[in-house]
Amino acid sequence: MKRTRIAEVLSRGQIGARYTVMGWVRTRRDSKGGFSFVEVNDGSCLSGLQMIADQGLVNYESEILKLQTGCSIQAVGTLAESLGKGQEVELKAESIQVMGWADPESYPLQKKRHSFEFLRTIAHLRPRTNTFSAVARVRNAMARAIHAFFQERGFIYLHTPIITGSDCEGAGEMFKVTTFDLNHAPEKDGKVDFSSDFFGAPANLTVSGQLEAEIYALAMGDVYTFGPTFRAENSNTSRHLAEFWMVEPEMAFCDLEGNIELAVAFLKQIFASVLKDCREDMDFFNRFIDASVIPTLEALVSQDFQVLTYTEGVDILKKASETFEYPVEWGADLQSEHERYLCEKVIGGPVVLIDYPKEIKAFYMKVNPDGKTVRAMDVLVPKIGEIIGGSQREDDYDNLLERIRGAGLRPEDYGWYLDLRKYGSVPHAGFGLGFERLIQFVTGLSNIRDVIPFPRTPGNLAF
Ligand code: ATP
Ligand code: MN
Repeated sequence: MKRTRIAEVLSRGQIGARYTVMGWVRTRRDSKGGFSFVEVNDGSCLSGLQMIADQGLVNYESEILKLQTGCSIQAVGTLAESLGKGQEVELKAESIQVMGWADPESYPLQKKRHSFEFLRTIAHLRPRTNTFSAVARVRNAMARAIHAFFQERGFIYLHTPIITGSDCEGAGEMFKVTTFDLNHAPEKDGKVDFSSDFFGAPANLTVSGQLEAEIYALAMGDVYTFGPTFRAENSNTSRHLAEFWMVEPEMAFCDLEGNIELAVAFLKQIFASVLKDCREDMDFFNRFIDASVIPTLEALVSQDFQVLTYTEGVDILKKASETFEYPVEWGADLQSEHERYLCEKVIGGPVVLIDYPKEIKAFYMKVNPDGKTVRAMDVLVPKIGEIIGGSQREDDYDNLLERIRGAGLRPEDYGWYLDLRKYGSVPHAGFGLGFERLIQFVTGLSNIRDVIPFPRTPGNLAF
């Protein structure tokens, strides 16, 4: 089955040339003149291709006049300039074969627009809508741009394990991995005895590849991971998934400043790529989802990112006239309402917030000379809040040991991590970017469930 994708026909098609096109019917309109317009979409681009089906076609009466939204067809025809409004070219069909019918009584995508909530219940059909096919193409382009960014800079793409024996920060809510029959798990001293489980020890799905990425950074210099990440936190928000994709660069011979520089260059290059490579889809988001996405991304490509310390941020928030749901106090974690206020009301753009109190950040972040704050950085953006969390890592053996103990963790569980500070330790830094949060920011879609093909959230494993 040879076909030409509609994206190819529309961008490089030759007038007068013959093409075979395959796809799904979006609309059919019958003209009094004895012909019909059939618009077909194949997912290769947002636009469909208009076909002219004349009554001279052998199956005009028997099939063409019965085509409905969702039917799949194969059409052969000649490309012609279109006289009608709304498209430059159309395919004058010589033949149209129906590949699969779609009963209009039951095919759910009839109305022009459906709510995103409804579309989530039909995840097997939602990519046939403009919004979800546009998201899938933009997601793909962003993934490619992410690899391009790191590859151009000589970073090694590292595959860190999905099943792990360590809990990255000693606090994360993790999904357990076991082959035990949960009703008959062997026990010892009243507790489940994992020594006879598959790995001979408790195993979990990873919450971050950072600690393993540090191992490779301290041998190879610059590495990055880009893979699935799992968090069993029961937070039903528009920014949290139980399964999401994280991008985690880790760099040896790098401090917090270098880390911020990389994060800013990274975001700018991804935004510039999407604007260049996904123009049609971005115009769609700007028109139908959020009229600020294109101007915002365009501005960010050339704007500086504001860097503030946590202490400065807290001072600003305490003076704010706004009443927050959660109070602001030095030493407390910032909520997304605070992060958004700083971006939206104070700075009018993204903010890189650095030097957080050590008590609210992970044990591996390097302590500042003040002894109270750590070399952390969060990149905050309007409408979402945190999209990147990173830090310079503690590279001093004794300080790290103290931090591990201080966090209530057992140093013997972090033997290899401590070893990295014992043998040829170097300053190093990195960050984690939530891929879906970045897609939310780029597309303007307000719910994270709509930027991943099959969202996993508490109570939802339908597809
Ligand atoms: P938050 O406070 O927003 O829950 P976090 O501080 O727990 O995030 P990190 O551990 O710093 O998150 O993870 C790095 C990045 O991964 C975050 O900046 C965010 O973009 C993304 N991220 C974290 N948790 C989730 C999640 N449950 N779903 C989607 N993305 C997430
Ligand atoms: Mn974070």
